[in-house]
Amino acid sequence: MQTSAARIADKKDWIKGATGDWEVVIGLEVHAQVLAKSKLFSGASAEFGGEPNAHVSLVDAAMPGMLPVINRFCVEQAVKTGLGLKAEINRRSVFDRKNYFYPDLPQGYQISQYKQPVVGEGVVQIDLDGGKTVEVGIERLHLEQDAGKSLHDQHPSMSFVDLNRSGCALMEIVSKPDMRSADEAKAYVTKLRQIMRYLGTCNGNMDQGSLRADINVSVRRPGGEFGTRCEIKNVNSIRFMGQAVDYEARRQIGILEDGGSIDQETRLYDARKGETRSMRSKEEAHDYRYFPDPDLLPLELDEAWISRIEASLPELPDEKTARFVKDYGLSAYDAAVLVAERASADFFEEVAKGRDGKTAANWVINELFGRLNKEGKTIETTPVSAAQLGGIVDLIGNGTISGKIAKDVFEIAWTEGGSPADIVEKRGLRQVTDTGAIEKAVDDIIAANPDKVEQVKAKPTMLGWFVGQVMKTTGGKANPQAVSDTLKAKLGL
Ligand code: ADP
Ligand code: MG
Repeated sequence: MQTSAARIADKKDWIKGATGDWEVVIGLEVHAQVLAKSKLFSGASAEFGGEPNAHVSLVDAAMPGMLPVINRFCVEQAVKTGLGLKAEINRRSVFDRKNYFYPDLPQGYQISQYKQPVVGEGVVQIDLDGGKTVEVGIERLHLEQDAGKSLHDQHPSMSFVDLNRSGCALMEIVSKPDMRSADEAKAYVTKLRQIMRYLGTCNGNMDQGSLRADINVSVRRPGGEFGTRCEIKNVNSIRFMGQAVDYEARRQIGILEDGGSIDQETRLYDARKGETRSMRSKEEAHDYRYFPDPDLLPLELDEAWISRIEASLPELPDEKTARFVKDYGLSAYDAAVLVAERASADFFEEVAKGRDGKTAANWVINELFGRLNKEGKTIETTPVSAAQLGGIVDLIGNGTISGKIAKDVFEIAWTEGGSPADIVEKRGLRQVTDTGAIEKAVDDIIAANPDKVEQVKAKPTMLGWFVGQVMKTTGGKANPQAVSDTLKAKLGL
């Protein structure tokens, strides 16, 4: 595994300019909404949606004299996420006021963490094409308040504000500048989202704004000094993140090759036009006049409490993938497909328990996932349960049905329900292993095709044709191995 800031992009990721090769350097600030019932400093509901301003307490509306009270569960979620990112948990952290005016931030400042965040350095392993993995460093994770939403298109001369989201807990997860291509940035966000969904600390719903990223992009000559970065604000789709990186890298290369220089600035990605444009020049930390929030005491975490959280962590994606490869003999690729969501990994394990892992994986991935995708269903709404799929794998395993008949059984289980064993019994789908019946079918085919019999003696690969014919006349119920053995014996192959 390659690590860290010194890493140079793979040659395939170098960008050809007019004056030579360039490399893109990316660091991400991901904002993840904490999965919690109530907000970071108030008891108002943190649920998505609702009538505008239905989830607003006096604290969220910043009424004079209101005092914030920390939501212990949100801290627990942040610590859990930090542990999932293999990060240092800071026993003492501090909430600061970050001062800026924004109509949907009624306090006039955001409560955030600056110099002393709750979580320090960590690491995320990202998975790239061809089984390659790369480590991306985590700089920090801090807790902060989300802002509300201004609505400018509801009235000809007025803007409205919806404070439902104002004060919801966000985790800002800052990466080191360790990514070297759009694909790596996409893989990083995908992995981060997966880890948090496993932990249950963020639902990762990007279309609801629960996960969004500011993308810092700069370019340099391969292996050279870091260049000046631009920050692309608030991108809320993984596909757009990739597009924004590629566009921005090209733009910067164009400027540098024309002899210009990059101004550090904040930009916006316009998905419709596929380009980034300037929003404002980059503000510096001192512009915000950060200072410790006098309404809140420093956050002191108890050792035993952290240990309890650690003990409650579920098995995480990387470990699960490794275990699936080892225990079930799966390819790393198949294991990763199954582990993508916790629910599908659990489903697979239920099917695979006490059965052949590879057959189980094949049925879950190819038959079940294929069908779910086609019908717009998910593992939560699947009509074929793990017990049913396991039943099919059993019937294949003990030779009751062939793989081909198994597909028919799956189809019946999908549309009509029922246990696979009953389906096979009721419909007489049991595989024919009776050698007499198979011999008779083989004899018939041989007698009817003297020309093919001549050919197969010169070209043994023709045997497949004979097997196919016998399978056809037996309605797919003959045991293919028995058919092949009988044919070989009778044809003298
Ligand atoms: P700010 O609040 O000023 O944006 P942060 O420290 O919160 O600063 O975030 C800086 C982000 O920019 C980090 O994700 C970091 O990895 C990234 N970054 C820093 N330098 C570069 C660079 N030269 N090119 C690309 N990304 C960078
Ligand atoms: Mg920033």
